Amino acid sequence: MEKNPSEPDRGDKTHPYPILVAEDDLVTRKLLEKILTKAGYEVVSAENGGKALALFESRFFPMVLTDWIMPEMNGPELCRAIRKRVTPGYVFIVLLSVKDSKYDTIAGLESGADDYLTKPFNHCELIARLKTGIRILELEGSLRKANEEIRTLSITDPLTGCYNRTYLNERMLMELNRAKRYRHPLSMILCDIDHFKKINDTYGHQAGDHVLKEFAGLLLRSIRNTVDWIVRYGGEEFLIILPESDWIGASNLAERLRRIVSEKVIHIEKTEIRLTASFGVTGFHSIPRDAEIPMDAIINQADRHLYLAKQCGRNIVKSGAPEEWADSKR
Ligand code: GH3
Ligand code: MG
Ligand code: MG
Ligand code: MG
Repeated sequence: MEKNPSEPDRGDKTHPYPILVAEDDLVTRKLLEKILTKAGYEVVSAENGGKALALFESRFFPMVLTDWIMPEMNGPELCRAIRKRVTPGYVFIVLLSVKDSKYDTIAGLESGADDYLTKPFNHCELIARLKTGIRILELEGSLRKANEEIRTLSITDPLTGCYNRTYLNERMLMELNRAKRYRHPLSMILCDIDHFKKINDTYGHQAGDHVLKEFAGLLLRSIRNTVDWIVRYGGEEFLIILPESDWIGASNLAERLRRIVSEKVIHIEKTEIRLTASFGVTGFHSIPRDAEIPMDAIINQADRHLYLAKQCGRNIVKSGAPEEWADSKR
């Protein structure tokens, strides 16, 4: 027997697309609730556009079914209000009305509705049109996911999972402006694995890659990952940005990282690899609001300290405030 399209999909217990219904007529509202619930939808209803909009603002609804003529706020006004909002996903809107001229259909669609049904409506047709909506929502969802994946790939170093330099250029500008505006501290640690070439030469490039992953993992696990972030700055060189730390706090973290790295034993099959790293630290207690500080200038300062650490025999932290901006010192 052919399945009635108004029947719920069996096994589909929680419907991923709840529907917001706006309808002032009590009988029609109750009828819509009944039809949609029977079709498996979660339904929340309101008696006018204003109340529906208040519900929409308290919770996201990917589907809205609205009457045209209602007190307070009518259907097209509700459509326009929803379209103006920034929402976490697309909202599929169906207008339901006794207005049945071509002019009304066009005006309804131009207010932002995706579909238009005239009353009295056929129950099966309503459900079928909502299914069209679901196909659009699913398509939009998969496109959104694909875009997010592309974005993640474009800003991530594939070997270590740290951010890449594209992301550094983007975000560092924001961090600098924010630190300046709110007079917050901002620091960075540049670290470089000591004699990494020797690891590659002794154990091979693949083992070298494994060491890089382990090293990045140690760093990533040691930072406050809601605030601090790490960029793979070069082959075996990593830049840690600490937006809420001055250079003294950053220096303490670098010292902790230095110790963690030096105590780590990396196992590759039966081989045990030990390593050390050198750290260069710099940063601001607060940035003078009118200071023009290029990102590269701060990185260069950290690099100078790193160079000093290498010269002093490696496995060392060298740190200091940026020399050029005197009032950044404590
Ligand atoms: P130093 O203590 O002065 O930093 O010495 P180092 O050997 O660590 O530095 P050097 O710059 O001489 O060598 C870095 C090496 O890192 C050379 C390069 O082949 C290697 N390298 C860069 N990127 C990768 C990578 O993605 N994988 C592996 N396995 N090796 C890499
Ligand atoms: Mg009405
Ligand atoms: Mg090195
Ligand atoms: Mg290096």
